[in-house]
Amino acid sequence: MNATPVTARVAGVRDDIVTIRLMKDDEGEFFALVKNEVVYICPARLPADGRQERLQAEVLRVRHGEADVQVFENTRGVSIGDVVVQSSRLLSVALGPGLLGQIYDGLQNPLELIAGQHGFFLPRGLDVDGIDQQQHWAFQPLVKIGSRVKAGDVLGKVQERRFNHKIMVPFNLRGEAEVTWVQEGSFTVTTPVVRLRDQQGQEHEVCMQQFWPVRVPVNRDLLRAGYSERMYPHEPMLTTIRLIDTFFPVAKGGTACIPGPFGAGKTVLQSLISRYSDVDIVIIVACGERAGEVVETITEFPKTPDPKGGTLMDRTVIICNTSSMPVAAREASIYTGITISEYYRQMGYNVLLIADSTSRWAQAMRETSGRLEEIPGEEAFPAYLDSAVRALYERAGLIRTNDGSMGSLTLIGTVSPAGGNFEEPVTQSTLRTVKTFLGLSADRAYKRAYPAVDPLISWSRYLEQLETWFAEHMDKDWVPQVREMLLLLRKGEEVQQMMQVTGEEGVTLEDYLLWQKSQCLDQVYLQQDAFDAVDISVPIARQRDLFRLLTRSLENLPALTTKELARKHFVHLTSLFRNLNYTRQDSPEYQRYWQEIEALGKPH
Ligand code: ADP
Repeated sequence: MNATPVTARVAGVRDDIVTIRLMKDDEGEFFALVKNEVVYICPARLPADGRQERLQAEVLRVRHGEADVQVFENTRGVSIGDVVVQSSRLLSVALGPGLLGQIYDGLQNPLELIAGQHGFFLPRGLDVDGIDQQQHWAFQPLVKIGSRVKAGDVLGKVQERRFNHKIMVPFNLRGEAEVTWVQEGSFTVTTPVVRLRDQQGQEHEVCMQQFWPVRVPVNRDLLRAGYSERMYPHEPMLTTIRLIDTFFPVAKGGTACIPGPFGAGKTVLQSLISRYSDVDIVIIVACGERAGEVVETITEFPKTPDPKGGTLMDRTVIICNTSSMPVAAREASIYTGITISEYYRQMGYNVLLIADSTSRWAQAMRETSGRLEEIPGEEAFPAYLDSAVRALYERAGLIRTNDGSMGSLTLIGTVSPAGGNFEEPVTQSTLRTVKTFLGLSADRAYKRAYPAVDPLISWSRYLEQLETWFAEHMDKDWVPQVREMLLLLRKGEEVQQMMQVTGEEGVTLEDYLLWQKSQCLDQVYLQQDAFDAVDISVPIARQRDLFRLLTRSLENLPALTTKELARKHFVHLTSLFRNLNYTRQDSPEYQRYWQEIEALGKPH
């Protein structure tokens, strides 16, 4: 074992919460321990192979002379009196080149490496470096001896897959420092590449890897010191999914929530968003999935072709936890994902984080809170659920980094409310926080109306917030037009309700036309076929063309004097639009369908 002094011993065990009793130092004071510090529990009872296990745990609560810690491992065999050693660091992740393409568990253990060495999951009491310590990276300095730098400033760069990975001054350095030494060449992430002298005259060695505590935003100190700045999101993160980009946009640096009743197409939608969104880097946190799904993700994802070339894995990091892992690791995984996302944002990249599902994260929090016997709030969730959800989503955002680049972190969280009950606390807290709600509905999935996002329950505050962007890049009155189409859907639904009672005959011709229009809008614009090579991804310019043509066609109807004529007209119109959607824009057929649609609108 190592020489770290023993500062505490186990005093009680309740599942994965262990109470430890602090020991006293030479002066008779208890050893200092802080909340969120990592400690290791070393069970006296050794496993069959005789290895001394070190179980990683995080301090949740410190009382006089005692602390409750959550253990990220199974606590089988841990007994009263077992030795506890402190790490003197908060629960942290390693940040540096080599993160991209990795698949980690919630504590940044690389799963593929472990799979190779230990079978799928890590044996208890081992942890593996998050970043390969042997790999060499060609470091190109961008500062010279004598350069003055501050936290977050760029010291140099390395090429990581297709990205220019900026090596930055540690984010917690205080004040200005002077570069006293720098070297260029190929090094491992733990080799010093720059030396800095801070204002107190103290020397710091900087290597390409730095650690950062996961529960603290990477840019907290940078924002406070004014080195980096939070900006108001001003452009959409385009997904090439019509329903999202046109009707329920998500801003770059914004937040969104997708609730997923089972089988409503949540997996397909998430995979479309991660493949086609105009972001540089995608981080996926799969929190509490069944083990089978995790294995599937790990084997399938690296093979998924990236529309930008190469495979998706080149610009992705996956954090995976199965529901069989201890709850504490599940709870931590989301923070690991956010911290890695913030790190790439700080380099000026557009990062998308998909957290699936935040309900499982909240459930983990509930279990832990229960074991700590905290005062429960609604449905036994901790009373701080709301603020925890808010704090999570607040880590999204658009920032100007130290060197003036813009970086964004867009956070899309899924919730999985039991029985599709949106009234439950996690969904409610999330809805109060996020600015886009993409309400997947089992009903629409049942009708095979994909993506099965219900336009009548979904909303996006960004439609308003990004109005200027849409006016500049789409049409001057884009947002009012979109609103009008949303209203049409609503009215169409009302007529449909009426018709369910009275039949087609029971509604006026005018109402019937309304209903036909809304159906057409739904079928040719909202619905999009993920299994068609063209329709799967529709660039925003094509969305604009289609939206213009469609709104024109719905406004300029020929004389439709009977319901029968109306029905025939819309059957024809819808099928022409469908054909158009399946056709490449540069093909002659596209022109032909376009003209046929225009001709249909003219009075006969
Ligand atoms: P969930 O993850 O919500 O359980 P999936 O995403 O696996 O559901 O979707 C279930 C099925 O629905 C898919 O296998 C597919 O056949 C169909 N589906 C889902 N989304 C789409 C889509 N956008 N386009 C076409 N089919 C879809």
